[in-house]
Amino acid sequence: MPSIFSRIIKGEIPSYKVAEDDSFYAFLDINPTTKGHTLVVPKQEVDYIFDLNDDTLSGLTLFAKKVAKAIEKVVACHRVGVAVIGLEVPHAHIHLIPINEEKDMCL
Ligand code: 5GP
Repeated sequence: MPSIFSRIIKGEIPSYKVAEDDSFYAFLDINPTTKGHTLVVPKQEVDYIFDLNDDTLSGLTLFAKKVAKAIEKVVACHRVGVAVIGLEVPHAHIHLIPINEEKDMCL
């Protein structure tokens, strides 16, 4: 059975898309920690981020960086922090979480 994120990528479950290319998809977290909290996922379904091959892992990281820089321009925050969590949904993902200069959450 496809993961919930694979179903989101295919459009079977609605999401608020932030960015997409041939290999990666970024969308707003349904339960955001801060405004603009975004999940970045590979289209390839792999359970854990470090199970990705090196090319896909570095592609995902560079894609996430571009998305983070774009988010910094549109949310009322100075920086976008990164968390690699992936405990709940078994589909590799990176959390992009806007924070302010004091490293506080931007609510
Ligand atoms: P983790 O697996 O890193 O612990 O957390 C998974 C994240 O996916 C959570 O922050 C949760 O809010 C988010 N999430 C789970 N299901 C959905 C969904 O259907 N849509 C969206 N946009 N986010 C989801």
